Amino acid sequence: MPLPRQNLTLIAAAISLASTRSAPNERASADLAAGDSARLVLLGTGTPIPDPERSGPAQAIVIGKEAYVVDVGAGVVRRAMAAAQRDSLPALRAANLRRVFITHLHSDHTLGLPDIMLTPAVAHRKGPLMVYGPPGTRAMVAKILEAYREDIDLRIHGLERGDANAYRVITHEVSPGMVYRDSNVTVTAFRVPHGSWRHAFGYRFDAKGRSIVISGDTGPSEAIVEACHGCDVLVHEVYSKQGFDRLDSASRRYHSTFHTSAIELGDLAARAQPKLLVLSHILFFGENAEEILAEVRSRFHGNVVVGADLGVY
Ligand SMILES: [Zn+2]
Ligand SMILES: [Zn+2]
Repeated sequence: MPLPRQNLTLIAAAISLASTRSAPNERASADLAAGDSARLVLLGTGTPIPDPERSGPAQAIVIGKEAYVVDVGAGVVRRAMAAAQRDSLPALRAANLRRVFITHLHSDHTLGLPDIMLTPAVAHRKGPLMVYGPPGTRAMVAKILEAYREDIDLRIHGLERGDANAYRVITHEVSPGMVYRDSNVTVTAFRVPHGSWRHAFGYRFDAKGRSIVISGDTGPSEAIVEACHGCDVLVHEVYSKQGFDRLDSASRRYHSTFHTSAIELGDLAARAQPKLLVLSHILFFGENAEEILAEVRSRFHGNVVVGADLGVY
């Protein structure tokens, strides 16, 4: 498949951010050319803080015509449409969004859940949305459907004559282990420690010879090392240690309990040995991308990039 110009620009930007040993980026570019290999598309690399450059946490694994969305932060469907148009990825067109995996139910990871339930249905999704998530997901989905009952009723039974099937949501609450399999991919969930949050998962995707691990929100954890273990791509949340050191003690207590510093992530990546580490859900705390990269690289000497919305790997 020929590479659209914007895509080449994104890859070039990724390579410029990567270390001089940029083999995984070359690999990503080869995969893009292969067409049906698994690609990671970053749809939102932000946090709860509303940054117009970084949508709420979301990413997609795209394999040929199928997309597997992981987390649904604010703006997820519009970012998916942007990726579909920019990178010629029809799998990410709104009408084709059919599967969602949720790491945990924090608002920044789920504000786009009503969006991905309802917007693709209006855009003529064929069939229901499948949602995989932690305990509590079923109740959240049911309450969203209830909140929009009048809208859904009118769209199906009014002049729009919407397809009732497109508005259906099939929910699976997951526990650790294999949670999904089809001819493209096997998806495995694993528990991660996210402070006092009860049920938080990461997901590993094994697809056509590529392994992609998504950390979700987590403190530094051996679970990530075990799940990755030489994986092709590890997407991991992170905060700047230098910025963190300037926070007040209550904020430091919160972030050090719930999240992972760039120094801790560097140590962890040195053991997990991903072929490419992608930073996402980035709390800069006033530092810039180069400074946060330097913190990770002080401990991890492999390939690492600061993820940006619509980055493709
Ligand atoms: Zn979060
Ligand atoms: Zn969280």
